[in-house]
Parts: sequence; structure tokens; C-alpha cells
Amino acid sequence: MLTKDIEFRFLGLAFQKPELWSGGYEPLDPMAVSVVEEVGAYHKKYGEYPNLKTFFEWAKTRYEAQEFSYVKKNLTESDLSETFTEAQVKDFIGLQRLRKSIKQAENLLGTEASPSSKQIKAAQEALAHAIVEPEPACEAEEVFSESSLQTGKELKKLDIKIEWLIDRLIPKESIILISGKGGIGKTWLSLQMAHAISKGLSFMGLKTIKTPVTYVDFENSLPVLVDRIKTLNSTDVFFWHTTNSKLAPPRLDSNGYEIYKTLPKGVLIFDTLRAAHAGDENESRDMAFIMNRLKEIRDAGYTVIVLHHTAKANSEVFKGSTAIRDLADHSLSLHEIKLCVDCDKPIKDGLTNVHRECSGGADHYLRFGTQEKTRYKPFQTFLSFNPAAGFMQLTNRGALAKLLRITKEI
Ligand SMILES: [Zn+2]
Repeated sequence: MLTKDIEFRFLGLAFQKPELWSGGYEPLDPMAVSVVEEVGAYHKKYGEYPNLKTFFEWAKTRYEAQEFSYVKKNLTESDLSETFTEAQVKDFIGLQRLRKSIKQAENLLGTEASPSSKQIKAAQEALAHAIVEPEPACEAEEVFSESSLQTGKELKKLDIKIEWLIDRLIPKESIILISGKGGIGKTWLSLQMAHAISKGLSFMGLKTIKTPVTYVDFENSLPVLVDRIKTLNSTDVFFWHTTNSKLAPPRLDSNGYEIYKTLPKGVLIFDTLRAAHAGDENESRDMAFIMNRLKEIRDAGYTVIVLHHTAKANSEVFKGSTAIRDLADHSLSLHEIKLCVDCDKPIKDGLTNVHRECSGGADHYLRFGTQEKTRYKPFQTFLSFNPAAGFMQLTNRGALAKLLRITKEI
């Protein structure tokens, strides 16, 4: 597979892309080795790499006549070298380095039937060296080329604005985490968002941009889902439920996940993140894998909303790996706020001593808004809940004033 012919074709390519000479290429064919050595000698003398023409002039005086015609013929016939892709060049250098190390390891082992432990160790080191060898220099040069960077001045000229599918809540083409403890109503709330976005209706008084929405439901039973769809009259949302007889939605960690990139361009809601994969939610490696797949889907032009259960005891603490929060673009939470009817201070679990003098009565409200991680501006809205109709915007001015006072720091 690594024939002399390929080595010469690669050398031909290197004459066209001189950065490859410093890319760690070390051929095995003796004549190819001599070409690399001569190129090195030329570089040492002139401070630059030769092109084919200047190389032939140089080589004419350095090789024997027969060797020179061999080298010239092979390099001249290596015109096809531009058919190498960058990946092939990289593979080629890697393979060639590996082959060299194997040969080196073989030599170190010697011809004895049972090599000494010292020989074995040296051979192992030679092989390890082949594997941990740093990237070829030409790769690094490509990454750090200054011309491939953009200045702030250039970027300022671009007319890029953040588009909000729901004003100040759902930024377009991003990964949005909606967290809240089990049972608080994440499904209800996201079904209401789906309904509003799919029809271009306002959501809790916030403007929306009409966009196709697919609700991927791994979590709810079909009767529960159907009941809520009826209540909301969500006629325009696409639903993909695990009971779908034609095709069940694939898990995000299965090979089938690519299909999500073929759904109607718009919003994808995953209910819930936990149920959409088989990994371990407390393992950051598992979660980084899932979040990277969501990024891929986002980058294919989707706005990805994932519903995430938090631990029951404290709805403000994320369950599982912080990778989920770290890799999301925008994090929203839905949580309950209980206000004491006597002193208007919040009633939190375990902080009962604050209300020792109070009656114990409380008003229940819901806050929906940004929490901790966001690349966007913080935003919050207050809601009330009615099991027959879902969430509603809180309009009681007195209650709003109290809530704003206690959540000022958010
Ligand atoms: Zn109180």
C-alpha cells in the first residue's frame, strides 16, 4: 500500500506545498530518502525550499547520472500528486511514521527467539513514540494563520442580530435548557411554547416568530400527551412520540440521531433530556457526548430545547453533570416561589425560623426565566398555573411588585 510510487507522488506534492517538508515526512524508499535529504541540504544553503526546477538544477551536480535520471523521471511523473486530499496527506504522514516505528521496534527486538526485557521495553517505547508524536507542523501553521482570523472591526460590519423565537426567552439556533423539578409543569409550559411558536401567537405576552416546531416526547404517556394537546388545541405542532408505529424517535446516543437533522427546519423540543439517551447523566463524558450531538443538530439550523429534571430537594441545583449546563447556550428554569402571607418574605425549605411569628400561610407563584448560564441578557417572567388551561401570565400588580423585590438580584 505504501509503494515507492506513492512516496514519489507525495514528494511531488511537497514540491508544490513546501510546508510539507517540515511536516515530519520521512520516506523509506532509499531514493525518496535521498530526495528529502537533498531538499534539506538545499534549504540549509539557500534558506528556502526548492521548486522542481531549482531542485533539478541542484540535484544534477549531487547525484550520479543514473540516479539523477531516476529521481527526475519519478518526480516529473508525480504530477498527479495534487489529487491527495489534506486528510490523505495527514494519514500518509501518520502511517509512514508508524511503519518506521514498527521497523525500529523490530530492530530493537533483534533476531533472538526470546528478547530481553530491556529490548522489549525499548521496542515498546519506540511504538509509543509513534503514537504520541505531535501533529505535523504544517497543521499548526494552518490553524494559526493570522489571515484566517477576523478582526473586531470586520465583525462589527456584519449585520448579525440575535433573533428571538420568543422575545428575550428563546434565541434562535441555540441550545436551550429548561430545568425544573419533576412535576412542576415543564411539559405543560413547553407545549404552550410549541403551540405559540407554531402559530406565531404571543406567549405570556411575549412576541414570537412563527416557526415549525417538532415535539419529541420520550417522557409522557400517550393519553397524557393527547389530553394536553386537546386542552391547548395545538393543531400545528408536529409530535413524535415513542409509541409512533411507523418509526419511534431515535435516542440521541444511537446512530439514528442524524434523522433529527432532516426534520422541518425550526424548533426541536426534547422531553426530557434524561429519557432521550441511555447514558449516565452524572457522567460528564456521557453528557458531553450528548451535548455535542445537540450542537451538531443546532448547527444544522435548529433551535434545540431540552427539558431537564432537577433534583427534587432543591430545584435550583442541577441534577447530574455540569457538562449539561456548561455546553448549553442558554439556561432557563421554572421554579416555584412561596411568599409568606404575613411578612411577604419567601418561604424556603429549611428556613422556617424566619417565619416563627407568622401564621404559616403562603401564596404560590412560578418564576420562569434565565438562570446561571446564559450568553444572552437575563430575563424573567412570573406565572400562575391552572390545571384546566395551563400556565398564565401573572397580572396581579401587588404580587408582581413583591416578586420583583425578592428576585431583584437575579
Ligand atoms: Zn412570614
